[in-house]
Amino acid sequence: MDKNTFVVEKPCPICLQKTHVIKPKSRLMMESRDADTCVHYKDFNINLYRVWLCEHCGFAGDEKTFGVRITDRTRTQIKEWLDGHPIDHEFVDENDAPRAITSLERALDCLDLLKAPIAKKASTNHQLAWVYRSIGDKEHEEEYLKKAAELYAQSLATERYPIGNLTDTMALFVTGSIYYLLNDYNNCASFLSRIIGDQNARTRERVLFEKARDLWEDVRAAQKEEEKAKK
Ligand SMILES: [Zn+2]
Repeated sequence: MDKNTFVVEKPCPICLQKTHVIKPKSRLMMESRDADTCVHYKDFNINLYRVWLCEHCGFAGDEKTFGVRITDRTRTQIKEWLDGHPIDHEFVDENDAPRAITSLERALDCLDLLKAPIAKKASTNHQLAWVYRSIGDKEHEEEYLKKAAELYAQSLATERYPIGNLTDTMALFVTGSIYYLLNDYNNCASFLSRIIGDQNARTRERVLFEKARDLWEDVRAAQKEEEKAKK
């Protein structure tokens, strides 16, 4: 077991049985943060522990999803789907990247079945990209970064914010920063400019506003370099 985690029992919202789950300890030492808000802690990869997998029925979701109330009808539907799509869901007390990937993919299926907000699917795809980043799998990292950015864009166009703790300014910033990492500077600029042009964001979410402005300057510099290279 990783020294930065501990195991507790939680009721599964689908089969209603208690399952063992792994939680990260609260005192982790942060080392750095990537442009797209991926946080790195000393000697610990928190992205391996974003979702729980029920050891009885194979349902997966983050702590919040485990706590949501689900109607009997939806519960039966999901139970049937899980029975028809078995994966290895035996409890182990330490996650590695393959297991985290299986759990996050299963969590995405469960979000679909729960008709969860698009923003939630976006963040789960983003977390998958981070797991691939941690093992140096560039191809899959980019695949999931693209999916995350497209879903965030779709969410921003259709969903009402805030969604949980996520404000639209945060979603705009995350989307812009993902496009930045994908070297898609035009899309990046178009999302960041919506923060920079927003007077409310400037006063209400000052730190985020400043981060957006810093990234915007990096993007402008990168765009200029690109133009120079073309000449
Ligand atoms: Zn279960």
